[in-house]
Amino acid sequence: MSNRGGKCPRCGAVEGGGYLVVWQRNVSFSAFNGYRRAYSDYSLIHCLACGALWRTKANYVNRLRDASEKERRG
Ligand SMILES: [Zn+2]
Repeated sequence: MSNRGGKCPRCGAVEGGGYLVVWQRNVSFSAFNGYRRAYSDYSLIHCLACGALWRTKANYVNRLRDASEKERRG
């Protein structure tokens, strides 16, 4: 997979700018398991600059911090 730096697909904010945070690291929620957490290669990323949400399994996720509770609530 890609080893490039992370970037917001909507506004272009980059990983080093502090706007990209991890909402859910390596989890997926599925109706098939009753919406319990299941391990996934993908993590859910949030851009604090524009509010975009996207899923990725790129390596840059490992370098991002987790979102605070306040940030999760928006
Ligand atoms: Zn953005």
